[in-house]
Amino acid sequence: MYQNYEDKDANPKNPINKRKIEKLLRQLLIELGENPDREGLLATPRRIADMYEEIFGGYKVDAGLDVSFSEETDAIIARDIQFYSMCEHHMLPFYGKIHIAYIPDGKVFGISKLVRLVEKYSRRMQIQERLTKEIAGEIMEMGVKGVLVIIEGEHLCMKMRGVRNDSVILTLAHRGVMENKEIRENALVLLYNTKAKLRSV
Ligand code: ZN
Repeated sequence: MYQNYEDKDANPKNPINKRKIEKLLRQLLIELGENPDREGLLATPRRIADMYEEIFGGYKVDAGLDVSFSEETDAIIARDIQFYSMCEHHMLPFYGKIHIAYIPDGKVFGISKLVRLVEKYSRRMQIQERLTKEIAGEIMEMGVKGVLVIIEGEHLCMKMRGVRNDSVILTLAHRGVMENKEIRENALVLLYNTKAKLRSV
């Protein structure tokens, strides 16, 4: 039986139980036919437990997009925000780049805020489509006229197993005025036809 969590509540707010995770990982090594007491593996359960605390830290991030400053402007583009996430179907990483274009409604978000928002939703069990929508949804909720989020993701679960497909998966979510085709296409042109000078916007 699945417990049906809303996305936003999918967070057990309690810190993870690292000792229990260590025990489970030790058991997993045994089930895989390994000897968890050999030198190379002895500290592995602890290392993984520590790592999980970091790479699943998104549940604890409170990355509300508090307003940074006001400015009259058209589209704001934040390109190439690096992300790492964990595919919830296989518990293998997927990673790549996130591009965010939004049309402010008087408020502009600093790039570090956008990066924290990306971490909030990527550092957890995820699928790329939901990650795209959650980021777009939260930016929209913070009061912009429209937002477009594009994620280019590479999935280890596709590269190292199954079909061994090496392609980059592209997902896109748009909200508000970005649902207007013309406005969206303008943003896409900006995103893909401009070079490094836009990266620090
Ligand atoms: Zn997968």
